[in-house]
Amino acid sequence: MAPRVCILCCQAVKWAPVVFISAIVGWSYYAYVVQMAILTADTIAEKIIFLVLYHPILFLFVWSYYQTIFAKAKTPPKEFFLSQTEWQQLESETNENNQRDKLNNFAKKLPIQNRTIAGFPRYCEKCKCVKPDRCHHCSVCSICVLKMDHHCPWVNNCVGFHNYKYFVLFLGYALLYCIYVAVSSLKYFISFWSGGGATGVGRFHILFLFFVAVMFGISLISLFGYHIFLTVHNRSTLEAFRAPIFQTGADKDGFSLGSRANFAEVFGDKKSHWFLPIFTSLGDGVSYASRLQPTISYNTMGTTPRAETTNLGDGVTYPTRTVDLDSDGLLGQRQRWMEEGDTESSYENKGIESA
Ligand SMILES: [Zn+2]
Ligand SMILES: [Zn+2]
Repeated sequence: MAPRVCILCCQAVKWAPVVFISAIVGWSYYAYVVQMAILTADTIAEKIIFLVLYHPILFLFVWSYYQTIFAKAKTPPKEFFLSQTEWQQLESETNENNQRDKLNNFAKKLPIQNRTIAGFPRYCEKCKCVKPDRCHHCSVCSICVLKMDHHCPWVNNCVGFHNYKYFVLFLGYALLYCIYVAVSSLKYFISFWSGGGATGVGRFHILFLFFVAVMFGISLISLFGYHIFLTVHNRSTLEAFRAPIFQTGADKDGFSLGSRANFAEVFGDKKSHWFLPIFTSLGDGVSYASRLQPTISYNTMGTTPRAETTNLGDGVTYPTRTVDLDSDGLLGQRQRWMEEGDTESSYENKGIESA
């Protein structure tokens, strides 16, 4: 009984931020539509304009939020997981050189470019899998998430390959919602101080509506701006904190293919779909074109073909180099499976979750 209560308590805590945001949005609907547009607006024309402009913005905002929350995180394909036998052999091996060889042999057939600081394929001891490029283990979700950006408590979900476009749109539409509400309620906010406009409790709804819209709007500007910056530079939040390591060393711009191609990788190549929270990101989330490997020559685990990547370039050509696991000059250094000397849960401990 006790564990069940604990699980329910945990779930309640995890969903609390989502409930909080939903409650704010629900209240703002009442304050804007009922108190301001219907009961307070001066003319019929003003009422109609307020209502007609408000609802499409709200719809896109709520749709993006819903998609970000409920998109199921993508995990590595089964080819990346060690079998029970392979895992036991790896665990029972006491010689680090032999462990390294076993892991390298296993990873040889996989389309990976990213390494640990010591040159190893990146390995998740919890999931018992080799991590695909840009994939990280989320200590909250307890799974490895493809192109993990961060775990976001405000959506109670990991943000990654499966929902990054939704997340950026959610921030954008939330900002637009705040700006629209603040600008259209400004006139009635000013009249509050001069004693005009709404009467009774409606005055306070409009007053707080303006304050809340401005407050959220200010915090969203920097967050939305930061994620647009990350999108056009083809970095995840985790990669912005710690550059991914390639055959040639750490490179924070390793996956950057030019701003247009980077944008297309997240938003797709159909302009008509860019602003809708439907999945149009390019690729399969498992393997990525990079500056070292501008086109993907392998069939990535038999999932979504990534033929689009050859059209992503912006005219810049990069030297092509294939990944050769056996010629890694970094392997002579201290051997570690985890990245750069600590556990990946340290990402979360550094406050990245709070985005
Ligand atoms: Zn994992
Ligand atoms: Zn997570």
